Amino acid sequence: MDKAAGRAGHDPRKIKLVAVSKTIESARIQEAIEAGVTILGENYVQEARKKIAEIGHGVQWHMIGHLQKNKARHAITLFDYIHSIDGIPLAQELDRRAAQKGIRVRALVEVNLSGEAAKFGISSEAVMDLIYHVAPLKHISIEGLMTMPPYFDEPEKARPYFIRLRELRDRIEKEGIEGIRMDELSMGMSGDFGVAIEEGATMVRVGTAIFGERSY
Ligand SMILES: *Cc1c(COP(=O)(O)O)cnc(C)c1O
Repeated sequence: MDKAAGRAGHDPRKIKLVAVSKTIESARIQEAIEAGVTILGENYVQEARKKIAEIGHGVQWHMIGHLQKNKARHAITLFDYIHSIDGIPLAQELDRRAAQKGIRVRALVEVNLSGEAAKFGISSEAVMDLIYHVAPLKHISIEGLMTMPPYFDEPEKARPYFIRLRELRDRIEKEGIEGIRMDELSMGMSGDFGVAIEEGATMVRVGTAIFGERSY
């Protein structure tokens, strides 16, 4: 991460490492925390609930997987950050649940740049509409964008997707919409986080390169 930031002249201290701990048991997550990890990324509410009960909130927990609307109520108290806002109904439900609790949800909009049907996220054409709908909501704050490019063996092939996410972020920022910040770009995983950082990632989501191969 440090080297990639250096190559692009970015400040490495501004780039957050989200250690993706899906399928990894609490004891091994604790080891990662002892080694300095401060943010954990989980994909499933149920799995995260168990680990958060064991490990606690001394670290940040980020929801990086697809979030179903009917899990919104649990998600807002479990997670410090949600990377995967992919529709107006989900954003509205999170806002409603957060209002009931008197809290504010911090979140990113997940963009599906490849149009792959198997990927979650909102199309780049629909992002602006979602942003305008969510901007007035008082209990959810959108702080940036997230994406997951198609899988490539060659990290360079993911670069165009990272560039497109950054350009989309810049376009939204230019609109100057009240209540919308575009500080964060969550992009890059074990195979391509270096390229993502060169293209402006502020959060990288890295699982395998920290914990090794996952066994499901
Ligand atoms: C699993 C996962 C990651 C981490 O993938 P690795 O290749 O193991 O680093 C990152 N982001 C999301 C959304 C994931 O589901």
